Amino acid sequence: MRIAVIGAGLAGLTAARTLHDDGHSVVVWEKARGPGGRTSTRRGPDGMRFDHGAPFLHDGPLALEGLEALGTYAVNLPGGAVRREVVGIPSANAPAKALAHGLDVRPLARVETILRAGDGWHLAGEDGGALGSFDSVIVTAPAPQAAQLLAGAAPRLAARAADVEFAPCWSVMAAWGSPLDLGFTATEDIPGIACAVADGAKPGRTAGERWVLQADEDLSTAYLDVDADEVIDLLLARWFERVGRRADPVHVTAHRWRYARPRTPLPETYLREDTLLVAGDWCGGASAGAAVRSGADAAATLVAA
Ligand SMILES: Cc1cc2nc3c(=O)[nH]c(=O)nc-3n(C[C@H](O)[C@H](O)[C@H](O)COP(=O)(O)OP(=O)(O)OC[C@H]3O[C@@H](n4cnc5c(N)ncnc54)[C@H](O)[C@@H]3O)c2cc1C
Repeated sequence: MRIAVIGAGLAGLTAARTLHDDGHSVVVWEKARGPGGRTSTRRGPDGMRFDHGAPFLHDGPLALEGLEALGTYAVNLPGGAVRREVVGIPSANAPAKALAHGLDVRPLARVETILRAGDGWHLAGEDGGALGSFDSVIVTAPAPQAAQLLAGAAPRLAARAADVEFAPCWSVMAAWGSPLDLGFTATEDIPGIACAVADGAKPGRTAGERWVLQADEDLSTAYLDVDADEVIDLLLARWFERVGRRADPVHVTAHRWRYARPRTPLPETYLREDTLLVAGDWCGGASAGAAVRSGADAAATLVAA
């Protein structure tokens, strides 16, 4: 079969990898510059990198096990507690890049329309440009975007996707030029900040005092449409209060995830109508592991066909 996968996040790439290895011809369309989706890494000045999407991979990223780009490390929490977390190595997007290796991934290619064409599907990009015809399509965009994409071709699937609510998240990335000597490498005890994670403490990263502060759902929702500078000031003020001193970062920036985590995921791990499938973390969970499982299950149903 000739199969199109829309989205090069963990769900899409897990599906694409499985189908490619099963001998199918697979093209992955991705609107961003590279693979990763919400397991993403942002470059800053002087070679700085920040995992500004998922800081950790939760819920057993099953099919990813065995990837060299994946490992665990001990996170030091305030008060001396230690928690083991799974992360991409050397960056959050490394597992996605490893999955994408050898696949036909087309970056900077946003799919705008899916049209039924005989027994298959026709995809069009921006300005209606033809992207090709496929026997099967797997859509793995976050639910609100999937709902728009599916509206014309599969209204029933679009309606299921439209029912899924997503929570936003503001991520602030900050770097300091000298050690802060905090005694912990992650904390979840700052009001309004779901987690603050030291990127330099993760395995395979260059050392350095780089932190990602992720606003919680309430704060992210309340500040969804304000300027990034306002969010940076607010989160840094709370950070300074927590660490007990004001030390201005040498670099700071922010990213708004309008669709960060599914609030009301579907019970099914994928949806299917004929040869049009839908997968993603919001099918069956709300984590990186759920995304992998969803992509694997969607691919398995095509392999079995
Ligand atoms: C701030 C934040 C913190 C998180 N923390 C954690 C955590 O601690 N633990 C955890 O397990 N998970 C966490 N997650 C969630 C985790 O990142 C996701 O569950 C997982 O990465 C989702 O993978 P996916 O493939 O389903 O979707 P995505 O990664 O969103 O991939 C979908 C892809 O589709 C592309 N796309 C969308 N529309 C189109 C289109 N029309 N054409 C072409 N391409 C398109 C997008 O660009 C994207 O690359 C977090 C996420 C965020 C944002």
